[in-house]
Amino acid sequence: MHIPLDHQDKTQPLYQQIAAFLRQRILSGSLAPGNRLPAARRLAADLGVNRITVESAYDELQADGLVTARQGSGTYVLAPPPLPPLPQADPGAPWPLWQQEVQGRAAPLKRPAPDELLRAAAHPQPLNFAGGVGDASLFPVDDLRRAIQTVLRRDGVAALEYGERRGYGPLRGTIAQVLASQGLALSRENILVTAGSQQALALVVQTLLKPGEAIVVENPTYAGALDLFRLYGLRIVGLPVDEDGMQVEKLEKLLQQHHPRLIYTIPNFHNPTGACLSLPRRRQLVALADRYNVPILEDDYVGDLRYDGRPLPALKALDSGGRVIYASTFSKVLLPGLRVGFLAAEGPVYDCLVESKRVHDLTTSNLYQRALEAYVTVGRYQAHLNRSCLAYRKRRDAMQAALAGRLPGRVSYLLPQGGLFLWLRIDGVAEAFSTDGLLPLACQHGVAFAPGSSFYPQGCDGSRYLRLNFTLYPPETIFEGIRRLGEAIRAGA
Ligand code: PMP
Repeated sequence: MHIPLDHQDKTQPLYQQIAAFLRQRILSGSLAPGNRLPAARRLAADLGVNRITVESAYDELQADGLVTARQGSGTYVLAPPPLPPLPQADPGAPWPLWQQEVQGRAAPLKRPAPDELLRAAAHPQPLNFAGGVGDASLFPVDDLRRAIQTVLRRDGVAALEYGERRGYGPLRGTIAQVLASQGLALSRENILVTAGSQQALALVVQTLLKPGEAIVVENPTYAGALDLFRLYGLRIVGLPVDEDGMQVEKLEKLLQQHHPRLIYTIPNFHNPTGACLSLPRRRQLVALADRYNVPILEDDYVGDLRYDGRPLPALKALDSGGRVIYASTFSKVLLPGLRVGFLAAEGPVYDCLVESKRVHDLTTSNLYQRALEAYVTVGRYQAHLNRSCLAYRKRRDAMQAALAGRLPGRVSYLLPQGGLFLWLRIDGVAEAFSTDGLLPLACQHGVAFAPGSSFYPQGCDGSRYLRLNFTLYPPETIFEGIRRLGEAIRAGA
């Protein structure tokens, strides 16, 4: 029998090392009850130790009740003793101390869950306008199945190995080409494939900020980003948004006051307001970030979903010197469950982000990346995008028509040129009106929305706002949903 021994180990004498090795073998079942251990003299010779050392190890195992010595016959393995019973479940008992220490930490991250409220209301035909992605019934499931089959046939087991840490090379190449067509001068060496763009945001934050440091965001902004920044203990500094996006004119003062380490922005079809950052503001933002030496994280989550107007250059396209980190995703237009997003960066920060990605989850699913590459390369993605834009534009217009005069009070919103959301402000109803209060009532009426509070660093600022995803249902269903919303507001007023 070979037992690895460390003769230099001062903390564990040799007999204990031998006993520990055999104990582990007995408890794991590799030395079964009834097996005879080698004679002490033999094992001592095999291991190059004194016989007494082996005998001491056997004595220790005997004292533990794991072996028994039979006179003149040898030492035999016994059945391991039964495990001590688990403490009885006592519903009144406090949590173990370590659990008590983490108690309450999730509370600041908890938000109203419209889908749960809607389920609990058990309406026969619930309509949920709260979601953050496009219409799942349009997702190209058959195309993806075919792409996966093609990849498995073509690449075999290579598609199921870990794959490159920066992401599947050809997919990075395809992404770089698409970005180049939008004026972003990048190569595949600048792309890192991530588990959705959410992971891209997390990697950037972990790489660039420490708890207590400040981050500038639009106010309101994407709720999932706010949660991430809260989780990392960042100081969130909000800049108001109007129909031309973040009010960049107010940025310089905040940069001087708060010395932020990052500016996080959603310049296209901003979540939740739908606004696009105007070109002069884009230029000003990049210039200010440069002057104050602050990196920009550009979250372009639905830039492709444009229904009117002309695309504006990405912030990254206005930056020639590695000031902007660009993040995007295949989730919104395509398949959120694939969890494939990416970021584009250059310089030392790119290397840091690559290593951070590796440390966190090694790589993003190799099979899905290859399937996605196969799908995009044959032009299916572009075709799907065109179909989605046509459908979503109609739905946006349907929601606009449905809103006209159907809700009580004064309803104001910006008609977005793309994206997924209408961001409504409701005035002229009861003084105490809040969309958090309205949500459970709306769910009773069979309709859910995302309440404004989720999108503000100070939740209460959003009490008059709600976000509706206009892409999820055909026009007639949208009309029905808005009718129900009107009923709920009236019932609560
Ligand atoms: N950014 C924005 C603005 C979003 O709305 C979302 C998802 N709702 C994400 C990033 C993250 O999406 P994913 O991780 O699926 O790419």
